[in-house]
Amino acid sequence: MISARVSQLRSAYPLVVVGAGPAGMAAALGATEAGSAPVLMIDREPEPGGILNQCIHTGFGLHHFKEELTGPEYAQRYLESLLEHDIDISTDSDVVDVDRERRVTLMSPDHGVRTISAGAVLLCMGARERTRGAIRIPGTRPAGVMTAGTAQKLVNLLGYLPGRRAVILGSGDIGLIMARRLTLEGVEVCGVFEIMPHPNGLSRNIVQCLHDFDIPLHLSTTVVEIHGSDRVERVTVAPVDEETWPCLDKAWDIACDTLLVSIGLIPENELSLTLGLRIDPLTQGPEVDSTMHTSREGVFAAGNVVHIHDIVDYVSQEALLAGRSAAAFVSRRMPPADNIRLLPGDNVAYCVPQTISTDREHTIYLRVRHPLEESLLRLGDVYERKLRYVVPGEMVSLKLRPGVLDRFHGDALRIDILPREED
Ligand SMILES: Cc1cc2nc3c(=O)[nH]c(=O)nc-3n(C[C@H](O)[C@H](O)[C@H](O)COP(=O)(O)OP(=O)(O)OC[C@H]3O[C@@H](n4cnc5c(N)ncnc54)[C@H](O)[C@@H]3O)c2cc1C
Repeated sequence: MISARVSQLRSAYPLVVVGAGPAGMAAALGATEAGSAPVLMIDREPEPGGILNQCIHTGFGLHHFKEELTGPEYAQRYLESLLEHDIDISTDSDVVDVDRERRVTLMSPDHGVRTISAGAVLLCMGARERTRGAIRIPGTRPAGVMTAGTAQKLVNLLGYLPGRRAVILGSGDIGLIMARRLTLEGVEVCGVFEIMPHPNGLSRNIVQCLHDFDIPLHLSTTVVEIHGSDRVERVTVAPVDEETWPCLDKAWDIACDTLLVSIGLIPENELSLTLGLRIDPLTQGPEVDSTMHTSREGVFAAGNVVHIHDIVDYVSQEALLAGRSAAAFVSRRMPPADNIRLLPGDNVAYCVPQTISTDREHTIYLRVRHPLEESLLRLGDVYERKLRYVVPGEMVSLKLRPGVLDRFHGDALRIDILPREED
């Protein structure tokens, strides 16, 4: 991968981007293309690219580049563009604080502890995986229990196999991708166990990672105990009832030396919390308006830090908007404030942004709570769209043209996704 590190940091930048994953890179590009330069982009890893660097499978860029790329290829395309712009990249640098005056403090072997003033700050810190502790699986604490992302890093970047016989808990995309990867590397994958009655990953990953490799998917089933002293020796799994309580009388044991947990991502918001940003309890990320502006002036956010995305193309699209908006903030060209709050209604787990304006085009992202075969997306009584098939693992995106809201004069709009009778 082409890489770039800045040798000297300035004391002030019009724009500082925290995180150099796909969100950070697209945001930095959006900002420079909108005339804000120089931009400083900071990441604690040795290379820019974020989670993409360990995703060596294909499936990235289908929307954005109209090509099927691997994660590193997708990152490389952005990095090549970044190097043509006035963007300083500080890697191996951990941002430890962003204060209310938009001073960003970083620590790095190259620069020591430095505080940099920013005209605007873009938060693009991504997400981290939930661990075994988050769902308190009973049992012993042997080696061999790890998140699917850790296993991905071990196999794809460091060249180690995590074990020989694995069980995967959770049918999120990382677990599905790792079920296939481990099988290809010669590990026996006994099955993927999902507590919900429906899978949580993209449909294409269920087909390409499980069905194509004959890996069983057990829905409404979970791991109830881990056994082993030094190393995992077996796990007990059990079906769950409608309220997700395990039916222990129907439990069975599976011999294995590895348990991968793929039980969701949590937006990485420690910096947002210290900054006092308003956090949406539904997304666990900062609340943003239609320009990706957070509740604190001059602080913007994009990517998995705001809400967990299914595909990277949406991350890039959202971050480009955030970068352009941050540039507009620095040059005092911000559009008028939003005038409508969006309210998640029936079968809508959350929507982003949380507010929109009647005078601009918007893309709204949302996720459903339950799968529906034929459904109807309803935005108050001003807009309706038929949807074919919705599942919690796949984001729904809705492009709203300005004219759509002409007839609406309230200040809040409810979004529902309702069952639809087949026509
Ligand atoms: C395992 C896996 C498989 C996936 N597969 C696909 C796929 O096949 N197709 C697809 O389209 N999408 C896929 N995705 C989704 C996509 O990769 C993510 O949505 C995307 O990477 C999120 O981008 P991001 O920039 O928000 O976060 P990240 O990529 O996580 O980047 C965040 C960056 O911020 C840095 N950072 C965080 N905090 C700090 C700090 N305090 N100081 C300095 N740096 C910091 C981190 O080091 C990291 O580099 C996958 C995701 C995962 C996890």
